[in-house]
Amino acid sequence: MLNDKNTAPSIGYDRLRISTDGEGITTLFCFWGCPLKCKYCLNPHSWKIRKNVKEFTPRQLVELTSIDNLYFLATGGGVTFGGGEPLLYPMFIKEFNDLAGQEWNINVETSLNVPMESLRIVADFVHHYIVDIKDMDNDIYKRYTGKSNEQVLKNLKWLVKEVGADKITVRVPHIPDFNTSDDVKHSIELLKKEFGITNIDQFKYHIVKKI
Ligand code: SF4
Repeated sequence: MLNDKNTAPSIGYDRLRISTDGEGITTLFCFWGCPLKCKYCLNPHSWKIRKNVKEFTPRQLVELTSIDNLYFLATGGGVTFGGGEPLLYPMFIKEFNDLAGQEWNINVETSLNVPMESLRIVADFVHHYIVDIKDMDNDIYKRYTGKSNEQVLKNLKWLVKEVGADKITVRVPHIPDFNTSDDVKHSIELLKKEFGITNIDQFKYHIVKKI
């Protein structure tokens, strides 16, 4: 889904984040909309009902984020696009980058479950990709997200070849009731051996179960 009007809906942004989603000090900008329906999604308001959503143009966002220009320059930081799924809006991100200049680092937090064309549009300038892989096993992935991971794996392979593994961090979660420690180990082995991924962040979802 390419947005040719070049405005994009957002559920909000968060300034002055330190080394949580990219180098240095960053602003996290969250788009509305996601192709997946993860069972333990922490941001369901980013794709469920379109409520409390604000439309931005790239220029408006540059003006808004420029307030932290000095912090970005001093720390090697910049703007991280998350969501929802930021790669539903590649033209917005491209125009933002064109307007912002070369000094800010642009990062994306993505599931990679998007058309490859979206990746091609941003591949020249994105500084770092934080990929939420869920699980490498397609059955587990489908049960957890409602979609196949076929496109994710194609995109990951392409991305490693195109931009290099050092620009990619893959997050591999332990997902209660969906994968086991052996599944996580298997995902990590595949990522290393078959995809050449070197930056891997293994972590656990903490789920509060309703009584
Ligand atoms: S990819 Fe992220 S935003 Fe989308 S449903 Fe899954 S956890 Fe939620």
